Amino acid sequence: MLGVIDCDECDGLGFRVRRCVCVQGGDQLIVDGDRCADQAYADCRVCGGDGSVVEPCGRCGRAGRRRAQLVVTVVNLDTGAAASRRLLPGRLEPPAGPDSITRARDIVTALAATVGVRALRPSWGQCALDDPVYWLPQQWRADLPTRERLVLEAEALAQQEYVPWRVYVGRGTEAPPPPEPGRELARLCELADLLHLDLVVEARRQHDMAVWAIRYELPGGPVPLDPRAHARDLPSAVAATTFREALRGFDERGRAAPAHTVRPVRAAGVTPRVDLDRLGRAVLADLADDEPGAQAVWRDGRWWHTPLRPAGTVEKLHERDTGQIVRYVRQLVRRAVEPPDPAWWGEPVAHRPCPDCRPGTRLRRCHCRIGAPGPDPQCSRCSGAGFAPSGLACFTCRDGGRIPAALTVTVTDLRRVRHETWRPVAGESAPVVGYQPNGTPVHQLRPHWRLARHAAIFGVRPADLSRLDEERPVDQDLLHGTVTVHDPVVEPARQHVERVGAGLPGARLFVLAAAPDVPPLTDLLRLAHALDLAAVLTYCDHRLDSGDPTKVQGERWDLRLTARDAPLGAESPFCASVELALARCVEYLDSHLLAAVPREPERPVPAPQAAPSPPVADPTALLRQVGRHYAGQPVLVSFDRAGCRLWLAEGDHVQPLARATTLDAAVSALRLPGWEH
Ligand SMILES: [Zn+2]
Ligand SMILES: [Zn+2]
Ligand SMILES: [Zn+2]
Ligand SMILES: [Zn+2]
Repeated sequence: MLGVIDCDECDGLGFRVRRCVCVQGGDQLIVDGDRCADQAYADCRVCGGDGSVVEPCGRCGRAGRRRAQLVVTVVNLDTGAAASRRLLPGRLEPPAGPDSITRARDIVTALAATVGVRALRPSWGQCALDDPVYWLPQQWRADLPTRERLVLEAEALAQQEYVPWRVYVGRGTEAPPPPEPGRELARLCELADLLHLDLVVEARRQHDMAVWAIRYELPGGPVPLDPRAHARDLPSAVAATTFREALRGFDERGRAAPAHTVRPVRAAGVTPRVDLDRLGRAVLADLADDEPGAQAVWRDGRWWHTPLRPAGTVEKLHERDTGQIVRYVRQLVRRAVEPPDPAWWGEPVAHRPCPDCRPGTRLRRCHCRIGAPGPDPQCSRCSGAGFAPSGLACFTCRDGGRIPAALTVTVTDLRRVRHETWRPVAGESAPVVGYQPNGTPVHQLRPHWRLARHAAIFGVRPADLSRLDEERPVDQDLLHGTVTVHDPVVEPARQHVERVGAGLPGARLFVLAAAPDVPPLTDLLRLAHALDLAAVLTYCDHRLDSGDPTKVQGERWDLRLTARDAPLGAESPFCASVELALARCVEYLDSHLLAAVPREPERPVPAPQAAPSPPVADPTALLRQVGRHYAGQPVLVSFDRAGCRLWLAEGDHVQPLARATTLDAAVSALRLPGWEH
């Protein structure tokens, strides 16, 4: 059978012998990162000096066999129609182009036409139209003997088997035109003014060309060591940089930036579009004298230009599993000219050094001090010193080394903004509102410390407040101003500021006050139906714990797509709104799809076909009512082509509650007391 072949990475054995990583550095303790010695390290902790290790084959998951089968599916989200093409040896078309690669576009175009898709929506899943689907080798020719040809085709398919099922989601309408790069950059500048950040446009010399990057920074921070830069010119850098992308890594870049409070200033205003040609030329002009890079910094409503200059080197040491220390030497750069201090800088924020790490070393607070008044003299890691070497960032300050005395909270919906300084005042009242299980008191700070109040100001729910630079919801203590007071000597408000502020770039907390931009839940249900999967929605109503600061408040949701016969788990959902659960489901769509493909290579990859289906009703209101009845316990509802099933989580198990064609019918069958229908 040619749908499955022996794994070529392990010759069908399920394990393989490979060279140990220690051979790169050779037989010495400290090795250069870019060395390639091909000699084993005698004291290697991994191979014992042998130079080879036996390991399970990751490619075939120890099965020794690999699937030579791929499926491409296109779904029309507007109608629920789906079409799939199963690619098997003997059923491949010769590649259209000269490079012997068949790309997704070649297959998707035909499928899209059969289901009426006019444009794909790329935010659904990671599959792109330019992805290679299979790659026929040079020896492949249409006139080869059948057996020989099929073997080559099977190998080509098995090569791509790590994404066995590629699903493309589209709609019957045209996609909106891509935004104009000059306007996009102007929008990024406008947001820099709104949030009081720098927008940095940077070109770095890489071999004989310039690579471009666009990112947000805090004023006064060092130039980052490894900017993520791929774009060959400014317009492609703009096209590749969304607002989120420009913020990525902000937290780490800003760790050494000076902390200042924010002063109210009005920015001069941004022109509706930036002249990319002019800006690009100005940056390249600064690169002219063989400089390693150049920047244009958008600050206080205008561009400031500077070349980057070499600023010495820095040595980075890493420990390998082999026991060796790897040394990398990196080139530092600095701005030749610093732009003037930003107009919005208020006073500097005082700070104290972090008590839980030693700057410049790998010493961190030892585990024996957690929850104890002092170090344990018998501790095997620190022998009572209280500090032990660690490979992780400092838990308290995330390696910033500073604990600020105040912080600036910036809340925005990306149109409006509010900047506040949070500074503890001695003697502030903060009553005890609960206790942790170990008896530690939990205090609640006065209302101006509670982030949740901003929700009403921006017209959203508290669950819609999220960390702007980290894309995760704001935690419950921040929302409600609750503080677990470990050290009774330190006042609760100060403890709160220090806990939140330590490790924040420039002692600034950025909060997005906006509901997630997600498709309706009914789109996901329709997708599951089209793909012949189950959509499993989990809900838990936590009203019985209302007011207890140590317990989850409000409601929690989860949504996932699974194979129809997949067993259901009883895990507690953790998304604070159905929209957050939706956003997560769309973000992790690829892993849900991968999990829905049978693991055994002999079993086929799903290849769903679906005719248009009628829209389904939104189940959230009904599920909330069931969840209210079973408050404190997760209720699950799964929708698939066979209908709808309801479960109740009890401990580690799920108990079936009802089964019907619709959720409405399933809920009626429950005959909940007081149920009105
Ligand atoms: Zn080794
Ligand atoms: Zn293998
Ligand atoms: Zn210790
Ligand atoms: Zn620290």
